[in-house]
Amino acid sequence: MSLSFDPDQISLPIGHFIGDRLVESPGVLPMRRPSDGSFYAECPIASEALVDEAVRTAARALKISNWGGARPRERANVLRQWADLIESEAEALARIEAVSSTRPVGQLVAGDIAVTAEQIRFFAEFADKEGSDLVPTDDEHLGMIMTEPYGVVGAITPWNFPVSMAGWKLGPALAAGNAVVLKPSEMTPFSSVFLAQLAVKAGMPAGLINIVLGDGPTTGAAITGHPDIAKVSFTGSTGAGAAIMANVARSGIKPMTLELGGKSPQIVFADADLDQAAAAISSSILTNAGQACVAGSRLIAHAFVAEPLVEAILARMKAVQAGPTWDAAATYSPIISERHRSRIDAIVQAACAEGAECLTGGEPMRGKGYFYAPTLLASVDQPSPAITEEIFGPVLTLQTFTTEEEALALADHPTYGLAAGLFTRDLSRVLRITRAIAAGTVWVNRYGRSRDHILPTGGYKRSGIGKDLGREAYHANRRSKSVLIQV
Ligand code: NAD
Repeated sequence: MSLSFDPDQISLPIGHFIGDRLVESPGVLPMRRPSDGSFYAECPIASEALVDEAVRTAARALKISNWGGARPRERANVLRQWADLIESEAEALARIEAVSSTRPVGQLVAGDIAVTAEQIRFFAEFADKEGSDLVPTDDEHLGMIMTEPYGVVGAITPWNFPVSMAGWKLGPALAAGNAVVLKPSEMTPFSSVFLAQLAVKAGMPAGLINIVLGDGPTTGAAITGHPDIAKVSFTGSTGAGAAIMANVARSGIKPMTLELGGKSPQIVFADADLDQAAAAISSSILTNAGQACVAGSRLIAHAFVAEPLVEAILARMKAVQAGPTWDAAATYSPIISERHRSRIDAIVQAACAEGAECLTGGEPMRGKGYFYAPTLLASVDQPSPAITEEIFGPVLTLQTFTTEEEALALADHPTYGLAAGLFTRDLSRVLRITRAIAAGTVWVNRYGRSRDHILPTGGYKRSGIGKDLGREAYHANRRSKSVLIQV
């Protein structure tokens, strides 16, 4: 059966989810569907008082359920049941997500949602396997590093992969024995509400997941500044990450995981497999129309191979299947909003006015919705905003080099260090460049995450602090206590 659907027929869970009920409050922020620009809902904004209610509900649920202190295997079982329910409700969840976000329904079911269920199971495994450590002491003592959950974790997520981002925050925090108050992006909030409803249906004690809807300055700031939020886990832009750090510093000290922006380079050497490189590079900038933190938006190609490589990428850029996110055949996403599309276009036009050569695209696509044509800019200078700014759209820049030193100098970004791609058959070069490059992830002869969730993700420089996924994400949701017992 086709996954295509009529967006006007979808009922959305519009409200905050606190405890086990949907709490309605007046809609404030008008919401438009990225695929056709039509108005479809208003997002409410949770006040400080409502955030406080969510935090108190979470703390009470922790106490009543003894979630952090009960048998860890029971936590793991509930998380697995939740993952099973997410899979069996994948189509319903995909429809809610596809109405408001840029994610095509076909990619959601087989991709984002399937992977999220898998990642929740991955984190469930840690609950009854990762424990405290006994440490070497003399025989008169017993020393241990005991780990404990924080209590209530405050999580804030962006709009670009709403289900996945919620899963990255909820999975490890809950497996580690915490409760969560999560604020999804005000552009794409409803799939997180549905995820929380499914958790309660799957047997998770009510109140362990609370979803508050709203914007950053009101609802987000109320979460990060709340005295009973013991840890903040944030994914979003570097600017918002800095505002959150300032708010946390003003209102109290607490640990933070910050997954922020990127402007990742992809370096292609003359000995690379060009078909493999072209496929990986195109997919990295076309997936979700480049609205991905790890989008490989800066192509740095050896001058000998730049021309055939660019031709292969252009062919892929020209073949995209744009279409509304509710059409199962569509694979190329719209831009999240008219405003964001105008920002993308302004950076592209400014680069062209400064002398960049636009090899394809460089303009909004015709028709309904906020689509932007896949764009390749050549002859771009290193200080140009097209190189320095995170465009967060389907815009790839091309720079060329002839020596390894030149390639490294171009790859090094003044602000960001999230990911990097490297295409070469020379293993010694792979090791040299991997060591030299300032990035939290290096992909070699491929670009993009696999389903090896044990590999953590996070940034160097202003791309962030701490990691999502991997063991690190689980441990970041527990704190350690040193215990020394005199025998
Ligand atoms: P954004 O920073 O505008 O918003 C992200 C979230 O933060 C939203 O929920 C927003 O309401 C909230 N927020 C904004 N200001 C806040 C404040 N002062 N206090 C508390 N909360 C606040 O980002 P976006 O436009 O939704 O998402 C795109 C950005 O996210 C890009 O920069 C992208 O690189 C980044 N991102 C990073 C990763 C990663 O793993 N590093 C993953 C996905 C997206």
